[in-house]
Amino acid sequence: MKILVINAGSSSIKYQLFDAKTEKVLVKGLAERIGVDGRHVQKLNGKSNVTNVKMPTHNEAMEVVLESLVKDGVVKSLDEISAVGHRIVHGGEFFTESTLVDKSVVKKIADLTELAPLHQPAHVLGINAISKNLPKVPQVVVFDTAFHSTIPDYAYRYAIEKVAYTKWGIRKYGFHGTSHRYVASRLADLMGKKGKFIICHIGNGASVSAVKNGKCIDTSMGYTPLEGLVMGSRSGDIDPTVVQRLMKEKKMTIDETITYLNKKCGLLGVSGVSEDIRDVDEIAYSNEESEKANDCRLALNMATYRLKKYIGAYAAALGGVDAIAFTAGIGENDNEYREAVLTGLEYLGVQLDKNRNGKNFKRGEEQLISKKSSPVKVFVIPTNEELVIMRDTKRLVAKNKNTK
Ligand code: ADP
Repeated sequence: MKILVINAGSSSIKYQLFDAKTEKVLVKGLAERIGVDGRHVQKLNGKSNVTNVKMPTHNEAMEVVLESLVKDGVVKSLDEISAVGHRIVHGGEFFTESTLVDKSVVKKIADLTELAPLHQPAHVLGINAISKNLPKVPQVVVFDTAFHSTIPDYAYRYAIEKVAYTKWGIRKYGFHGTSHRYVASRLADLMGKKGKFIICHIGNGASVSAVKNGKCIDTSMGYTPLEGLVMGSRSGDIDPTVVQRLMKEKKMTIDETITYLNKKCGLLGVSGVSEDIRDVDEIAYSNEESEKANDCRLALNMATYRLKKYIGAYAAALGGVDAIAFTAGIGENDNEYREAVLTGLEYLGVQLDKNRNGKNFKRGEEQLISKKSSPVKVFVIPTNEELVIMRDTKRLVAKNKNTK
Protein backbone atom coordinates (compact mmCIF):
# COMPACT_ATOMS: atom_id res chain seq x y z
CA MET A 1 0.00 0.00 0.00
CA LYS A 2 1.46 3.35 -1.08
CA ILE A 3 0.05 6.71 -0.04
CA LEU A 4 0.76 10.00 -1.76
CA VAL A 5 0.76 13.13 0.43
CA ILE A 6 0.11 16.41 -1.38
CA ASN A 7 0.53 20.03 -0.36
CA ALA A 8 -0.92 22.11 -3.16
CA GLY A 9 -0.15 25.84 -3.29
CA SER A 10 -1.28 28.43 -5.80
CA SER A 11 1.63 27.76 -8.17
CA SER A 12 3.21 24.62 -6.72
CA ILE A 13 2.53 21.07 -5.62
CA LYS A 14 4.77 19.49 -2.97
CA TYR A 15 4.51 15.74 -2.57
CA GLN A 16 5.82 12.71 -0.71
CA LEU A 17 5.09 9.10 -1.53
CA PHE A 18 5.02 6.77 1.50
CA ASP A 19 5.11 3.04 1.90
CA ALA A 20 2.12 2.97 4.26
CA LYS A 21 3.28 -0.15 6.07
CA THR A 22 6.88 0.79 6.85
CA GLU A 23 6.06 4.56 6.91
CA LYS A 24 9.16 5.06 4.77
CA VAL A 25 9.26 8.02 2.36
CA LEU A 26 9.93 6.49 -1.08
CA VAL A 27 10.29 9.76 -2.93
CA LYS A 28 9.58 13.43 -2.46
CA GLY A 29 9.42 16.37 -4.78
CA LEU A 30 8.00 19.62 -5.93
CA ALA A 31 6.28 20.79 -9.11
CA GLU A 32 6.58 24.56 -9.14
CA ARG A 33 6.06 27.60 -11.30
CA ILE A 34 2.77 26.10 -12.47
CA GLY A 35 1.25 28.40 -15.08
CA VAL A 36 4.62 30.14 -15.50
CA ASP A 37 7.55 28.21 -17.01
CA GLY A 38 7.17 24.97 -15.03
CA ARG A 39 9.86 23.14 -13.04
CA HIS A 40 9.84 19.71 -11.48
CA VAL A 41 12.27 18.68 -8.75
CA GLN A 42 12.22 15.06 -7.60
CA LYS A 43 14.38 13.82 -4.75
CA LEU A 44 15.14 10.14 -4.97
CA ASN A 45 17.88 8.20 -3.14
CA GLY A 46 19.53 11.42 -2.00
CA LYS A 47 19.71 12.83 -5.54
CA SER A 48 17.75 15.79 -6.88
CA ASN A 49 16.48 15.52 -10.42
CA VAL A 50 15.42 18.83 -11.95
CA THR A 51 13.46 19.11 -15.18
CA ASN A 52 11.94 22.14 -16.83
CA VAL A 53 8.57 21.17 -18.18
CA LYS A 54 5.51 23.19 -19.17
CA MET A 55 2.57 22.77 -16.79
CA PRO A 56 -0.17 25.28 -17.54
CA THR A 57 -2.43 24.12 -14.69
CA HIS A 58 -2.36 21.87 -11.61
CA ASN A 59 -3.72 19.01 -13.76
CA GLU A 60 -0.63 18.91 -15.98
CA ALA A 61 1.62 19.39 -12.96
CA MET A 62 0.06 16.36 -11.29
CA GLU A 63 0.44 14.42 -14.52
CA VAL A 64 4.16 15.27 -14.58
CA VAL A 65 4.55 14.17 -10.96
CA LEU A 66 2.69 10.87 -11.44
CA GLU A 67 4.46 10.03 -14.71
CA SER A 68 7.83 10.63 -13.05
CA LEU A 69 6.98 8.11 -10.31
CA VAL A 70 6.60 5.42 -12.97
CA LYS A 71 9.47 6.63 -15.15
CA ASP A 72 11.91 6.69 -12.23
CA GLY A 73 10.77 3.23 -11.13
CA VAL A 74 9.35 4.34 -7.76
CA VAL A 75 6.16 2.46 -8.69
CA LYS A 76 5.62 -0.05 -11.51
CA SER A 77 2.19 1.32 -12.18
CA LEU A 78 0.02 4.06 -10.69
CA ASP A 79 -2.37 1.33 -9.47
CA GLU A 80 0.05 0.92 -6.56
CA ILE A 81 -1.10 4.27 -5.15
CA SER A 82 -3.98 3.32 -2.91
CA ALA A 83 -4.84 6.71 -1.39
CA VAL A 84 -3.94 10.41 -1.46
CA GLY A 85 -3.83 12.71 1.56
CA HIS A 86 -3.96 16.50 1.23
CA ARG A 87 -2.79 19.21 3.57
CA ILE A 88 -5.52 21.85 3.83
CA VAL A 89 -4.83 25.14 5.59
CA HIS A 90 -8.35 26.03 6.73
CA GLY A 91 -11.13 23.85 8.05
CA GLY A 92 -13.08 26.74 9.58
CA GLU A 93 -15.39 25.62 12.38
CA PHE A 94 -16.82 22.92 10.15
CA PHE A 95 -13.90 20.51 9.91
CA THR A 96 -12.68 19.53 13.35
CA GLU A 97 -10.94 16.39 12.09
CA SER A 98 -9.56 14.80 8.95
CA THR A 99 -12.13 13.50 6.52
CA LEU A 100 -12.62 11.52 3.30
CA VAL A 101 -13.14 13.65 0.23
CA ASP A 102 -16.45 13.78 -1.60
CA LYS A 103 -18.10 16.53 -3.64
CA SER A 104 -19.65 18.24 -0.62
CA VAL A 105 -16.28 18.29 1.18
CA VAL A 106 -14.62 19.96 -1.81
CA LYS A 107 -17.41 22.55 -1.93
CA LYS A 108 -17.05 23.24 1.78
CA ILE A 109 -13.26 23.73 1.40
CA ALA A 110 -13.93 26.19 -1.44
CA ASP A 111 -16.54 27.96 0.71
CA LEU A 112 -13.80 28.71 3.26
CA THR A 113 -11.88 30.80 0.70
CA GLU A 114 -12.73 34.01 2.55
CA LEU A 115 -10.70 32.75 5.54
CA ALA A 116 -7.62 31.72 3.50
CA PRO A 117 -7.89 33.38 0.08
CA LEU A 118 -4.59 32.12 -1.31
CA HIS A 119 -4.65 28.59 0.05
CA GLN A 120 -8.19 27.21 -0.26
CA PRO A 121 -8.57 27.61 -4.06
CA ALA A 122 -5.13 26.01 -4.51
CA HIS A 123 -6.12 23.04 -2.33
CA VAL A 124 -9.26 22.54 -4.42
CA LEU A 125 -7.10 22.57 -7.58
CA GLY A 126 -4.89 19.89 -5.97
CA ILE A 127 -7.87 17.67 -5.10
CA ASN A 128 -9.37 18.08 -8.58
CA ALA A 129 -6.02 17.29 -10.21
CA ILE A 130 -5.95 13.97 -8.34
CA SER A 131 -9.61 13.27 -9.21
CA LYS A 132 -8.71 13.79 -12.86
CA ASN A 133 -5.48 11.79 -12.90
CA LEU A 134 -6.39 9.05 -10.38
CA PRO A 135 -10.19 8.97 -10.48
CA LYS A 136 -10.60 5.74 -8.50
CA VAL A 137 -8.23 6.58 -5.67
CA PRO A 138 -9.79 7.72 -2.35
CA GLN A 139 -8.63 11.08 -1.03
CA VAL A 140 -8.43 12.42 2.52
CA VAL A 141 -8.09 16.02 3.68
CA VAL A 142 -6.16 16.98 6.83
CA PHE A 143 -6.68 20.48 8.21
CA ASP A 144 -4.10 22.81 9.77
CA THR A 145 -6.78 24.31 11.99
CA ALA A 146 -8.40 21.07 13.23
CA PHE A 147 -6.13 20.44 16.24
CA HIS A 148 -7.14 23.85 17.61
CA SER A 149 -10.88 23.10 17.51
CA THR A 150 -10.79 22.15 21.21
CA ILE A 151 -9.79 25.68 22.30
CA PRO A 152 -12.53 27.02 24.64
CA ASP A 153 -14.67 30.02 23.62
CA TYR A 154 -13.12 32.39 26.16
CA ALA A 155 -9.77 31.81 24.43
CA TYR A 156 -10.89 31.77 20.79
CA ARG A 157 -13.34 34.70 20.84
CA TYR A 158 -12.13 38.26 20.30
CA ALA A 159 -13.53 40.85 22.68
CA ILE A 160 -15.68 42.45 20.01
CA GLU A 161 -19.43 42.28 19.51
CA LYS A 162 -21.04 38.88 19.10
CA VAL A 163 -22.18 39.33 15.50
CA ALA A 164 -18.54 39.36 14.37
CA TYR A 165 -18.34 35.75 15.48
CA THR A 166 -21.84 34.45 14.78
CA LYS A 167 -22.27 36.05 11.37
CA TRP A 168 -18.77 36.57 10.05
CA GLY A 169 -16.86 33.76 11.73
CA ILE A 170 -14.31 36.14 13.25
CA ARG A 171 -12.49 34.17 15.97
CA LYS A 172 -9.12 32.62 16.66
CA TYR A 173 -8.63 29.55 14.44
CA GLY A 174 -4.93 28.86 14.86
CA PHE A 175 -2.62 27.19 12.33
CA HIS A 176 0.28 24.67 12.19
CA GLY A 177 -2.18 22.31 13.92
CA THR A 178 -0.91 19.16 12.22
CA SER A 179 2.59 19.92 13.48
CA HIS A 180 1.40 20.76 17.00
CA ARG A 181 -0.61 17.51 17.03
CA TYR A 182 2.39 15.44 15.93
CA VAL A 183 4.73 17.01 18.49
CA ALA A 184 2.12 16.74 21.30
CA SER A 185 1.76 13.05 20.60
CA ARG A 186 5.55 12.45 20.48
CA LEU A 187 5.91 14.43 23.70
CA ALA A 188 3.29 12.24 25.40
CA ASP A 189 5.30 9.16 24.32
CA LEU A 190 8.58 10.64 25.57
CA MET A 191 7.04 11.76 28.88
CA GLY A 192 5.06 8.56 29.36
CA LYS A 193 1.92 10.65 30.00
CA LYS A 194 -0.20 13.30 28.32
CA GLY A 195 0.07 16.13 30.88
CA LYS A 196 0.54 19.86 30.32
CA PHE A 197 2.63 20.77 27.30
CA ILE A 198 3.76 23.95 25.58
CA ILE A 199 4.73 23.43 21.95
CA CYS A 200 6.78 25.99 20.07
CA HIS A 201 6.64 25.60 16.29
CA ILE A 202 9.23 28.13 15.20
CA GLY A 203 9.92 28.27 11.48
CA ASN A 204 9.62 31.21 9.17
CA GLY A 205 6.00 31.22 10.32
CA ALA A 206 5.83 30.58 14.06
CA SER A 207 3.21 29.63 16.61
CA VAL A 208 3.06 28.28 20.14
CA SER A 209 0.29 26.16 21.59
CA ALA A 210 -0.84 24.99 25.03
CA VAL A 211 -1.91 21.34 25.14
CA LYS A 212 -3.62 19.76 28.15
CA ASN A 213 -4.22 16.00 28.24
CA GLY A 214 -3.82 15.75 24.48
CA LYS A 215 -6.19 18.64 23.71
CA CYS A 216 -5.16 22.08 22.51
CA ILE A 217 -6.45 24.81 24.84
CA ASP A 218 -4.81 27.86 23.26
CA THR A 219 -2.55 28.89 20.41
CA SER A 220 -0.83 32.11 19.40
CA MET A 221 -1.94 32.47 15.77
CA GLY A 222 -5.43 33.84 15.42
CA TYR A 223 -8.04 34.63 12.80
CA THR A 224 -5.09 34.54 10.41
CA PRO A 225 -1.44 33.49 10.85
CA LEU A 226 -0.50 37.15 11.50
CA GLU A 227 -1.25 37.10 15.23
CA GLY A 228 1.14 36.05 17.97
CA LEU A 229 4.90 35.63 17.79
CA VAL A 230 7.49 37.76 16.02
CA MET A 231 8.10 35.71 12.85
CA GLY A 232 10.40 35.82 9.83
CA SER A 233 8.44 38.57 8.12
CA ARG A 234 5.26 38.88 10.24
CA SER A 235 4.91 41.39 13.06
CA GLY A 236 2.76 39.13 15.26
CA ASP A 237 0.68 40.88 17.96
CA ILE A 238 0.22 44.57 17.32
CA ASP A 239 -2.08 47.38 18.44
CA PRO A 240 -4.60 47.88 15.58
CA THR A 241 -4.15 51.62 15.86
CA VAL A 242 -0.60 51.11 14.56
CA VAL A 243 -2.21 49.86 11.35
CA GLN A 244 -4.11 53.13 10.99
CA ARG A 245 -0.95 55.17 11.57
CA LEU A 246 1.08 53.05 9.11
CA MET A 247 -1.57 53.57 6.45
CA LYS A 248 -1.32 57.30 6.91
CA GLU A 249 2.47 57.54 7.08
CA LYS A 250 3.25 55.11 4.26
CA LYS A 251 0.21 56.02 2.17
CA MET A 252 -0.88 52.41 1.95
CA THR A 253 -4.36 50.98 1.52
CA ILE A 254 -5.67 48.63 4.21
CA ASP A 255 -4.88 45.58 2.04
CA GLU A 256 -1.35 46.86 1.39
CA THR A 257 -0.86 47.43 5.10
CA ILE A 258 -1.93 43.87 5.97
CA THR A 259 0.43 42.53 3.28
CA TYR A 260 3.16 44.75 4.74
CA LEU A 261 2.57 43.32 8.24
CA ASN A 262 2.76 39.81 6.79
CA LYS A 263 5.73 40.23 4.46
CA LYS A 264 7.91 43.13 5.56
CA CYS A 265 7.89 43.04 9.35
CA GLY A 266 9.09 40.59 12.02
CA LEU A 267 12.81 39.72 11.91
CA LEU A 268 13.06 41.26 8.45
CA GLY A 269 11.47 44.56 9.44
CA VAL A 270 13.35 45.05 12.69
CA SER A 271 16.77 43.88 11.46
CA GLY A 272 16.46 45.41 8.01
CA VAL A 273 18.57 42.45 6.89
CA SER A 274 16.57 39.28 6.24
CA GLU A 275 13.60 37.16 7.21
CA ASP A 276 15.95 34.17 7.47
CA ILE A 277 17.19 33.96 11.04
CA ARG A 278 20.53 32.54 9.89
CA ASP A 279 21.38 35.85 8.21
CA VAL A 280 20.26 37.80 11.29
CA ASP A 281 22.21 35.46 13.64
CA GLU A 282 25.38 35.84 11.63
CA ILE A 283 25.48 39.60 12.11
CA ALA A 284 23.98 39.64 15.62
CA TYR A 285 26.52 37.16 17.01
CA SER A 286 29.50 38.80 15.27
CA ASN A 287 31.64 41.38 17.06
CA GLU A 288 30.45 43.99 14.63
CA GLU A 289 29.57 47.28 16.27
CA SER A 290 27.18 49.03 13.96
CA GLU A 291 23.58 50.13 13.86
CA LYS A 292 22.81 47.16 11.61
CA ALA A 293 24.33 44.70 14.10
CA ASN A 294 22.37 46.28 16.95
CA ASP A 295 19.17 46.08 14.92
CA CYS A 296 19.84 42.37 14.34
CA ARG A 297 20.37 41.85 18.08
CA LEU A 298 17.16 43.73 18.81
CA ALA A 299 15.21 41.61 16.31
CA LEU A 300 16.36 38.43 18.05
CA ASN A 301 15.66 39.86 21.49
CA MET A 302 12.16 40.82 20.45
CA ALA A 303 11.40 37.41 18.93
CA THR A 304 12.71 35.41 21.88
CA TYR A 305 11.14 37.75 24.47
CA ARG A 306 7.73 37.43 22.79
CA LEU A 307 7.93 33.64 22.90
CA LYS A 308 9.08 33.72 26.54
CA LYS A 309 6.01 35.83 27.39
CA TYR A 310 3.72 33.35 25.64
CA ILE A 311 5.29 30.45 27.52
CA GLY A 312 4.60 32.27 30.80
CA ALA A 313 1.03 32.97 29.73
CA TYR A 314 0.43 29.38 28.67
CA ALA A 315 1.92 28.01 31.89
CA ALA A 316 -0.74 30.09 33.64
CA ALA A 317 -3.47 28.92 31.25
CA LEU A 318 -2.48 25.28 31.78
CA GLY A 319 -2.08 25.64 35.55
CA GLY A 320 1.55 24.52 35.31
CA VAL A 321 3.70 22.87 32.71
CA ASP A 322 5.29 19.41 32.47
CA ALA A 323 7.19 19.80 29.23
CA ILE A 324 8.10 22.29 26.52
CA ALA A 325 8.99 21.27 22.96
CA PHE A 326 10.69 23.12 20.12
CA THR A 327 10.13 22.21 16.49
CA ALA A 328 10.39 23.50 12.86
CA GLY A 329 13.30 25.24 11.11
CA ILE A 330 14.40 27.56 13.92
CA GLY A 331 13.13 25.44 16.83
CA GLU A 332 15.03 22.40 15.58
CA ASN A 333 18.24 24.14 14.58
CA ASP A 334 18.90 27.39 16.39
CA ASN A 335 20.32 26.67 19.83
CA GLU A 336 20.96 30.34 20.63
CA TYR A 337 17.30 31.13 20.00
CA ARG A 338 16.22 28.29 22.31
CA GLU A 339 18.67 29.35 25.00
CA ALA A 340 17.49 32.97 24.89
CA VAL A 341 13.85 31.86 25.25
CA LEU A 342 14.49 29.45 28.11
CA THR A 343 16.91 31.59 30.11
CA GLY A 344 14.95 33.30 32.88
CA LEU A 345 12.32 30.57 33.07
CA GLU A 346 14.11 28.83 35.94
CA TYR A 347 11.39 30.08 38.32
CA LEU A 348 8.94 27.92 36.32
CA GLY A 349 11.16 24.86 36.77
CA VAL A 350 13.02 25.03 33.47
CA GLN A 351 16.66 24.02 33.85
CA LEU A 352 18.35 24.13 30.47
CA ASP A 353 21.33 21.82 29.90
CA LYS A 354 23.61 24.07 27.85
CA ASN A 355 25.67 21.15 26.54
CA ARG A 356 22.69 19.13 25.41
CA ASN A 357 21.30 22.27 23.78
CA GLY A 358 24.67 23.33 22.38
CA LYS A 359 27.80 21.34 21.67
CA ASN A 360 26.26 17.87 22.22
CA PHE A 361 23.14 18.64 20.21
CA LYS A 362 22.38 16.09 17.49
CA ARG A 363 20.64 17.82 14.62
CA GLY A 364 17.60 16.01 13.24
CA GLU A 365 17.01 13.86 16.32
CA GLU A 366 14.45 13.95 19.11
CA GLN A 367 16.27 14.85 22.27
CA LEU A 368 16.06 16.26 25.77
CA ILE A 369 17.79 19.63 26.11
CA SER A 370 16.93 20.32 29.75
CA LYS A 371 18.79 18.75 32.67
CA LYS A 372 17.53 15.26 33.44
CA SER A 373 16.48 16.51 36.86
CA SER A 374 14.74 19.61 35.49
CA PRO A 375 11.17 19.78 36.90
CA VAL A 376 9.98 20.96 33.46
CA LYS A 377 11.45 18.83 30.67
CA VAL A 378 12.42 20.53 27.43
CA PHE A 379 12.72 18.60 24.17
CA VAL A 380 13.55 19.29 20.56
CA ILE A 381 11.24 17.21 18.38
CA PRO A 382 11.62 17.38 14.59
CA THR A 383 8.13 17.81 13.19
CA ASN A 384 6.61 15.55 10.54
CA GLU A 385 3.32 16.87 9.20
CA GLU A 386 3.42 14.58 6.14
CA LEU A 387 3.58 11.50 8.36
CA VAL A 388 0.46 12.64 10.25
CA ILE A 389 -1.35 13.21 6.93
CA MET A 390 -0.27 9.78 5.70
CA ARG A 391 -1.46 8.08 8.92
CA ASP A 392 -4.84 9.85 8.90
CA THR A 393 -5.30 8.94 5.24
CA LYS A 394 -4.47 5.30 5.90
CA ARG A 395 -6.79 5.11 8.92
CA LEU A 396 -9.78 6.78 7.26
CA VAL A 397 -9.49 4.78 4.04
CA ALA A 398 -9.25 1.51 6.01
CA LYS A 399 -12.24 2.49 8.18
CA ASN A 400 -14.28 3.32 5.09
CA LYS A 401 -13.44 -0.05 3.52
CA ASN A 402 -14.50 -1.90 6.67
CA THR A 403 -17.83 -0.12 6.93
CA LYS A 404 -18.70 -0.68 3.24
P1 ADP B 1 8.31 27.47 7.13
O1 ADP B 1 7.78 26.05 6.99
O2 ADP B 1 7.49 28.35 8.01
O3 ADP B 1 8.69 28.11 5.84
P2 ADP B 1 10.63 26.20 8.30
O4 ADP B 1 10.11 25.40 9.42
O5 ADP B 1 11.11 25.49 7.09
O6 ADP B 1 9.66 27.38 7.92
O7 ADP B 1 11.81 27.09 8.87
C1 ADP B 1 12.50 27.97 8.03
C2 ADP B 1 13.42 28.82 8.86
O8 ADP B 1 14.21 28.00 9.72
C3 ADP B 1 14.41 29.57 7.98
O9 ADP B 1 13.89 30.81 7.63
C4 ADP B 1 15.58 29.71 8.88
O10 ADP B 1 15.45 30.96 9.52
C5 ADP B 1 15.46 28.63 9.93
N1 ADP B 1 16.54 27.64 9.84
C6 ADP B 1 16.66 26.61 8.98
N2 ADP B 1 17.81 25.95 9.18
C7 ADP B 1 18.45 26.58 10.18
C8 ADP B 1 19.70 26.40 10.85
N3 ADP B 1 20.53 25.43 10.52
N4 ADP B 1 20.00 27.26 11.84
C9 ADP B 1 19.18 28.26 12.18
N5 ADP B 1 18.01 28.48 11.58
C10 ADP B 1 17.64 27.67 10.60
